[in-house]
Amino acid sequence: MSVAPPDLRYIDIQAPAEGRLAEVAPGVHWARFGLPFRLNHINVWLIEERDGLTIVDAGVADDRTKAQWETIAGNLGPSRRVERVVVTHHHPDHCGLAGWVSQRFGAPVAMSRTEWMLGQYYLHDGTPALRDVNARFYRRAGYPAGFFDGQDVLFTSITQEFPSEYQRLAAGAATAPGGDWAVMTFGGHAPEHVCLYSAARKVLIAGDQVLPVISPIVGVVPHEPDDSPLDDFLQSLEALRQLPPDTLVLPSHGQPYLALHARLDALLAHHDRRLAELLDALASPSDAAALTTKLFPDVGPGFDRIFALSETLAHARCLEGRGKACRNVDSDGVEFYQRTR
Ligand SMILES: [Zn+2]
Repeated sequence: MSVAPPDLRYIDIQAPAEGRLAEVAPGVHWARFGLPFRLNHINVWLIEERDGLTIVDAGVADDRTKAQWETIAGNLGPSRRVERVVVTHHHPDHCGLAGWVSQRFGAPVAMSRTEWMLGQYYLHDGTPALRDVNARFYRRAGYPAGFFDGQDVLFTSITQEFPSEYQRLAAGAATAPGGDWAVMTFGGHAPEHVCLYSAARKVLIAGDQVLPVISPIVGVVPHEPDDSPLDDFLQSLEALRQLPPDTLVLPSHGQPYLALHARLDALLAHHDRRLAELLDALASPSDAAALTTKLFPDVGPGFDRIFALSETLAHARCLEGRGKACRNVDSDGVEFYQRTR
């Protein structure tokens, strides 16, 4: 959903062509890779550290992405060693090719523990156990059986050789020994999403946590149906407010920008608005399927609707947590939401 504030300031730099690098800050290089989705690109960063290069994110596992990495490897030359491949979170546009990139450059993958474990979990995409979890989730939301059949292998279809071992990135640590990129971790979009911040450069490698134009998906997932990720996300916006207002933000999608605080305000206002819209829709009891259609009237079928459902549920859980909405289950196991006052 597009929520760009009018005062968002982009820096004056063009997105690099495929296989090229653009230096966006001292020692910080930007590469852009294509994605086979409506969101058609991902930004990847190569940062010069004391011990060599750190790559941040890898793109999806397809031939086009591999070819682009080969071009970048050729441009780097043999003297530039890659020391680690940081993956911000477990979504396949970020981690899909991480195992392959790690092998290609002979460098370990570094992730937060939760994100690595979630990647391991999603390797079971499409197995009977996970299909059952998904089916129960959609049923509780009010969709007829089979409504989303065939929509449960997104992760494995664009992920290859997800790493079986990794180096853990914990909040507060540096990516490299003695390095000045500090790991920050946040919930909401993913449970332990890694951002990297360099105080010396006032640069934040933000992943999907704060994107410039779109609001990152904050959604309830089938294996944690009662979780409230929007509360985690709103907390992350407050935590990021501790960074200087003129921080240069390097997002995974869109253009690098300044005015971090304006962006945090816009994301906060967006979610406040969506919470108010949902509360209005809860004047009479509704299941999540009907609420999703109300909140996202133009959404298409398949994954887009699944994402819309997960967002709708995230806002519903937040209202429940604030005591503004409650849930009742009918005899078919479908959950109905209603405002409490
Ligand atoms: Zn993501």
